[in-house]
Amino acid sequence: MKLGIPRERHEGERRVAATPETVKQLAGLGLDVLIEARAGAAAGYADHDYADAGARIVQDLDPGELNVLVHVRPVLPSTAAALKRGAVTVGMASPSSELATVQALVEAGVTAFALELVPRISRAQSMDALSSQALVAGYRCVLEAAIRLPRFFPLYMTAAGTVPPARVLVLGAGVAGLQAIGTAKRLGARVSANDIRPASADEVASMGGTFIKLDLETAEASGGYARELSADRGALQRELLAPHVAMADVLITTAAVPGRRAPLLVSRQMVQGMRPGSVVVDLAAESGGNVEGAVPGEDILVPTADGQGHVTLVGLKDAPSAMAQDASRLYAKNVANLLALMVRDGTVAPDFDDDVIAGACLTHDGAVRHLPTAEALA
Ligand code: NAD
Repeated sequence: MKLGIPRERHEGERRVAATPETVKQLAGLGLDVLIEARAGAAAGYADHDYADAGARIVQDLDPGELNVLVHVRPVLPSTAAALKRGAVTVGMASPSSELATVQALVEAGVTAFALELVPRISRAQSMDALSSQALVAGYRCVLEAAIRLPRFFPLYMTAAGTVPPARVLVLGAGVAGLQAIGTAKRLGARVSANDIRPASADEVASMGGTFIKLDLETAEASGGYARELSADRGALQRELLAPHVAMADVLITTAAVPGRRAPLLVSRQMVQGMRPGSVVVDLAAESGGNVEGAVPGEDILVPTADGQGHVTLVGLKDAPSAMAQDASRLYAKNVANLLALMVRDGTVAPDFDDDVIAGACLTHDGAVRHLPTAEALA
């Protein structure tokens, strides 16, 4: 069976869905691997390394020729329409926003696996691209903050005096938030964090952060995810957080609620209450924003209430793509591991009795298998 790896078409996307290492793994499964020339170039993977690993380099992939297409960004509707009936796709599908693609996949009779839908269970951890990419984003957002902060992160005791460590506050301590805590800690900052899931207090402590306990009911839904707070509770959370935000030199926000707009945790007034020179990085800017006024891909200078300077508000965009080499390394393993679960003797044969395969399947046999997406399309 022919498996294709495309150059990503989405503007600004630098990642690639396979690396030379995973090409070896895929070829070892008996698949005939084709890769578009320079598909890995922006991530630092060269054509000759793919060729050495067993891939054939082609100038342009013909989707109609492929049995399997692996990808990073959701495929374009035109690509979905060009695939053959029964072809398999594996990659991020953004089913809640890319309904035109889902419709095209259904009409083309494609079996599409969406990495966002891989169940968050232990057995599927090696296929969990949400986690692998959140890890990259969590690391990256601390570096983005550090480079804009006019201060050191660590404590310095020098002959010229003592420099106190920077205070970093992380709101939302899921996979990305925990990585942000660990990264800020390794840079020497004093780190505190808050989340509304009860389990997060221990997780924050395990990364070296101090958990900020708010007098607020915890909000955990099934599967360990957060529940959306009511408007009243959200307002109370902002009120309780305000003094902690005002004390921080760096604020990093990573809060998300599955299937919802990101919760608004920080108002403009709270940002204005920070000290001049402080930095806010909103990792949730692309999904609605945790911080009022954050714009994806932009730095905004917010004047401080004391009129003495400004706070830099960074709306982070495409964070994993900015670290394309390692983001691709992890993502490609997620893709290959999911495929390995369904390839037998060089043939892709998904077993829908397997929870991971059934859970990750978005479309199959001319139908949408993911209920919320089917409802959105109805
Ligand atoms: P996520 O990206 O959906 O959300 C990020 C964090 O924001 C979460 O910790 C959430 O509790 C928090 N949040 C939401 N609303 C908030 C608010 N108002 N204030 C403060 N924080 C708020 O989360 P994620 O990183 O995908 O992780 C979600 C859960 O899934 C966690 O329990 C995690 O341990 C679990 N998980 C399990 C596995 C596995 O078992 N394979 C893998 C990854 C994650």
